[in-house]
Amino acid sequence: MSSTLSFGTDNGLLEKVAELSGQNLYACYQCGKCTADCPFSFGPQQVVRFLQLGQVEKALAHDTLWQCASCYTCVAACPKGVDPVRIMRALRTIDTDHGKGLRSRVFGKIDGLSKIGSGAMAPISNTLLKLPGSNLAAHQFLGIHKNRSLPPFARRTFPSWHRNHTPLGDGHRGKVLLFNDTFMDYNLPQVGIAATELLEMAGFRVELAKKVCCGRAMISKGFYDQAAVQARANVEHLYEQTREGAFIVGCEPSCLLTLRDEYPDLVEPEMKEQALAVGRQAVLIDEFLAMLSDKGELELDFDQAQTNGRSAIFHAHCQQKALADPAKSMQLLNMAGYQAELVNAACCGMAGSFGYEKEHYEASRAAGERGLFPAVRGRNGAEVVVMGISCRHQIEDFTDAEPRHLTQVLRDAVTRSTGN
Ligand code: SF4
Ligand code: SF4
Repeated sequence: MSSTLSFGTDNGLLEKVAELSGQNLYACYQCGKCTADCPFSFGPQQVVRFLQLGQVEKALAHDTLWQCASCYTCVAACPKGVDPVRIMRALRTIDTDHGKGLRSRVFGKIDGLSKIGSGAMAPISNTLLKLPGSNLAAHQFLGIHKNRSLPPFARRTFPSWHRNHTPLGDGHRGKVLLFNDTFMDYNLPQVGIAATELLEMAGFRVELAKKVCCGRAMISKGFYDQAAVQARANVEHLYEQTREGAFIVGCEPSCLLTLRDEYPDLVEPEMKEQALAVGRQAVLIDEFLAMLSDKGELELDFDQAQTNGRSAIFHAHCQQKALADPAKSMQLLNMAGYQAELVNAACCGMAGSFGYEKEHYEASRAAGERGLFPAVRGRNGAEVVVMGISCRHQIEDFTDAEPRHLTQVLRDAVTRSTGN
């Protein structure tokens, strides 16, 4: 804990937490639903209680604050609209030394590291990742659990594919900006390829958004100053690109929803209106396609004979549940001819980098075992569809399923031509 902090009930820290979080701490009436629903058995209710009592020091010392997986389940659970995640995030900003070790710095800078490791360097990077003992070294020196593996790097990155591909349509519906996230760019280009092809087959011209990393990794590790720099840069870039009404379409819920949920609070007050304008144009790909469908404007012909009523189970990412609407994904899967079922489970247990961290491995697995893993193991041949990369990774680590992103499943329901 920072030695420069002093605590008390009237030192301004409480006001700072309320201001940074944008939350009315006293709207919480201590019903306990957030704590009861937390898949990791943490205690957000107690953190808020300490703040209500003016006991900032006790709130800062509470384990929940430093172990919270930011899964957003408590946000969705609160009947009063209180956001414990924002409150805890604000609290962490005032203790600037806690938890900023090497592992946090590595995860926080995953975008830059992935860029270096992919492309021409991918064969070397992937060989290093597979060397005997590399997992033990990561366990020892980075605190990444030895049973976890990092996603391999792509030899051909998604931006490289995008620059050189031939569009599948004439783009008569106009431009969309694809928010190409770090994992899409450097680890799983197949998700970006599927998204591009799906949007092109729907009549759009797909441009990659001019942007830097969304900053989600920095936020989740408490590097708010750096995240604010990234938010400012993106608001500047994206505001100009969306002035004529283009949508920013994203595939990774935690990245795209950072634009909507975090940027207005991360940028300076004079930039807030621009951030809100960018947020209004930022949509997940399922929201975008479902919106078109609801207006009778979706130009995609799904080949229902191909899917033939096959079963699919859809697991919703936590931020998708809290800040968007998984019903949009379900709507599209059903339109594509699947008998789709929404998995009744809370967090998968991975929650960004949480499940990678050696001290959280067991809690991460236990959270998945509470609902998601049994549902996946009992899928009986159903397609497993998930939008979040960390959720897919978690399912792969603890079941024999091979989950796919929604864009891959939908793209293949229209055409099988690319085979990605
Ligand atoms: S965000 Fe998730 S892990 Fe954190 S306290 Fe809320 S429910 Fe628990
Ligand atoms: S669910 Fe909302 S109102 Fe209830 S204890 Fe948690 S934060 Fe307070």
